[in-house]
Formats: sequence, C-alpha cells, structure tokens
Amino acid sequence: MQLPADYHVHTFLCNHAVGDPNEYVVQAKVIGVSEIGFADHAPMPREDFDDWRMSKSQLEEYIRLIEGLRARHTGLEIRLGLEVDYIPGYEWWTERLIKTYEWDYIIGSVHYLGDWDFDNSRKIQRWNEVEVDSVWRQYVELLIKAVQSGFFDVIGHLDLPKKFGHRPKTNVGLLFADFFRVAANAGIAIEINTSGLRKDCREIYPSMELLQEMVKLGTPITFGSDAHAPGEVGWEFPRAVALAREVGFKSWVRFIGRKREHVELRTI
Ligand code: ZN
Ligand code: FE
Ligand code: FE
Ligand code: ZN
Repeated sequence: MQLPADYHVHTFLCNHAVGDPNEYVVQAKVIGVSEIGFADHAPMPREDFDDWRMSKSQLEEYIRLIEGLRARHTGLEIRLGLEVDYIPGYEWWTERLIKTYEWDYIIGSVHYLGDWDFDNSRKIQRWNEVEVDSVWRQYVELLIKAVQSGFFDVIGHLDLPKKFGHRPKTNVGLLFADFFRVAANAGIAIEINTSGLRKDCREIYPSMELLQEMVKLGTPITFGSDAHAPGEVGWEFPRAVALAREVGFKSWVRFIGRKREHVELRTI
C-alpha cells in the first residue's frame, strides 16, 4: 500500500507539537506514505508575536534537524517545507524567510484576522463576540491576498474557520467564488488536510462542496495530516484518498525545490 506524501507535519520547535521528529519519520514508513514533508510554523520577526511557532534563532536548527533526518533515513523521501502565516504587512518578512533556504515547498495559511488567531482554542471565546459570516468573509479576503502575494505553493486547510463548528450561513460556494477565480489563475495547489477529522468540525479541510469546485477548476492537490504528534502522521489518509478519488481527482502533486510534479492518485 502506498499512500500519497504527507506534506503537513510539525516539530517540537513550534512549542505545541510532541515527540521526537525521528518518530514521525518512523511512523511515515509504518503507515506507508510515499514521502514525508515537514512544514513547521515559521518564525515571526518579533519573538513575542505569539507562543505557537519556532523562534527566529531556531530556523537554522529546524533546517539542520530535517537534514539530519534525511541523512538517517535513506528509504523515505523527506521534504523540507514551511507553514507560513499570511498576515498583511509582513510580506517583507515572508520574502526574507523564503529566500533563506532552498525549501521544497511553502504552505500559506491564514490563522490570523487582525490580532486574533481564530483557530487557537485558547481564544475560542472571541467567536461569541463576532458575527460568524463576517469572520468567513474576512478570512476569504485574506486567502485571496495570500494567493496574490505569489509566495506560496500550497494553501493550507482551506476552510479553517469551521474548526470549532462555526459554519457560515452564506453558501460556501458563494463565499469562495472569488478565491477560486484567483487560485485557478495562479495555479496554486490546495491541500487536503485530515486534521479537521480530529477537531469539532469532524470533517476534512476542505469540505466536499469546496473539493467539488476544485475538481472542476483542475486545482492541484497535496495531502497533509497537520501532525503535531508522531501517531498523527498519515492520519486518515486512506479515507482522504478515497474521498479525493470519489470527488474526481486523478492526481496529486509533489514538490522538489519548489518545482511541482504530478503523481497519479492510486486506489488504496
Ligand atoms: Zn500547529
Ligand atoms: Fe495551520
Ligand atoms: Fe500546521
Ligand atoms: Zn496547519
């Protein structure tokens, strides 16, 4: 059994993932993913920005850590990626981060609306003070800007605001219409992220409806578990592959040095 690459894996450097990175690689081999790609939370210019990412001084350590794993495990392709927050005003910083090293791919994620990291469970009460649909609209606006920035190879967890179960009243197809136009133009990939199955929304990111739109537009896809523990690597990948095939995807994409290759999506 060969599962697609897991391109969304974290390390202890972000302060909220557990276990030895080596165990993540071992688990990747056990579960049978074709590649493992680390994409840990990128640092921000100010160390007190928040407490759920590596610090600037740890960026070198992160790169050395992944290189060390590559040297140790010859039987499995290990990719070096980064999950970068798209936050307006920090484009200069993102540009610098991307230039720092030869990444295999960069995942662009929107976790912040202003100063609110809306997917942070410690900030969940803020959801009671906002209008849910307005959060979704602001979120999609930022996603569009993220794509237009040109920094990213992949968009992470496309419908993240559903994490705690906050669904929009507006039709999601309508909400994401402009985004899909821009994304299709840019040819950017979107990940199928299984971590939603572990959250209150109990659903893969993106939802069925959004996946169907992606098939229509020929959107390239990657797969990601968003593992924050060794046992989460390749989490529910057989289910994600079955879903992707059912919706109509025929291939997924791998990245080497930010160059994309299509790989046939095989039946498990
Ligand atoms: Zn995380
Ligand atoms: Fe994320
Ligand atoms: Fe992540
Ligand atoms: Zn993530």
